[in-house]
Amino acid sequence: MTGEKIGPIEIIMGEKQSRAPYSTTLLIRGRQGSTLIDCGGGPAVYAYLREQNIRQILLTHFHPDHTSGAALFPEAQVLTNPFDYGRLLNQAKREADDSPYRPVGPIQLIYPYHQLMTVSETKLLMIHAPGHSDGFCCPYFPDLGVLMVGDIDLTSFGPWYFGPDSDIDQFIQSAQQTLEVDAKYFVTSHQKGMFELADYRQKLPQYLEIIEQREARLKQAVKRGCSPGELVYENIIYYADNVRQTPWILRNEQMGLAKHLLRLIDHGEPYADYYAEFMQAHRLQREQIRQLHQPSWYGRDWKGANQK
Ligand SMILES: [Zn+2]
Repeated sequence: MTGEKIGPIEIIMGEKQSRAPYSTTLLIRGRQGSTLIDCGGGPAVYAYLREQNIRQILLTHFHPDHTSGAALFPEAQVLTNPFDYGRLLNQAKREADDSPYRPVGPIQLIYPYHQLMTVSETKLLMIHAPGHSDGFCCPYFPDLGVLMVGDIDLTSFGPWYFGPDSDIDQFIQSAQQTLEVDAKYFVTSHQKGMFELADYRQKLPQYLEIIEQREARLKQAVKRGCSPGELVYENIIYYADNVRQTPWILRNEQMGLAKHLLRLIDHGEPYADYYAEFMQAHRLQREQIRQLHQPSWYGRDWKGANQK
């Protein structure tokens, strides 16, 4: 197994072409050992990586498709962002040892956003890019012109913003800001692999347009008189058949539609009554669909946390 290489970086697709629950991993080779960005490639990828003297694993965010293999490298230091440190610690404590959601052994360290670091002799900056999740970030290698855009993944499905801490407008803003980064190569986490600048610049707007298409379908359905209870079966985000058959897809559809309705209200459109009925019909509470977190170590000294 080998992936595309840019300088010391190897881009390793996960199993099933990095479709969730798998994702793409970056391997950065150094003289003293290697660093991973994310660790959700699947068993075949982990077998390859176990030969690579992995000393450090940096997780872009807490979703299991990016973290699930980290526990298989007990000799490596695992770092995450300031938002996800507490979350991953709690997850590790809560889940049974054999659970796929027991993602990582102890998370030892927090990396700071927007501070130039050196990993395996390669310069790296973790750019905070909230929206997909609140702590989500895009690893940037300035000397190599590589930006890992991760879950800004340009898939034909479109953007994923169905977590309690996801935010649609933040997603759009973060995605647009990736174009301001001086990069030549844009590495996605799922299916599509790597894009060069011209291609990425062309495809990103089409990908973000899917958000507006979903919202237009939502508005049309409401206009047609579709009830809040039935709105989830209108093929707005997922196909209705999948929503009917799969509980987690129903959940994502509910979350996504609730977030779109809130976004419409935020943008001054008259959806407050419909939103209230939607929330009631689907037994959702506002705090389930819009959770605002502070970073785990907000107001504390990150370095203090790192010395433990
Ligand atoms: Zn994710």
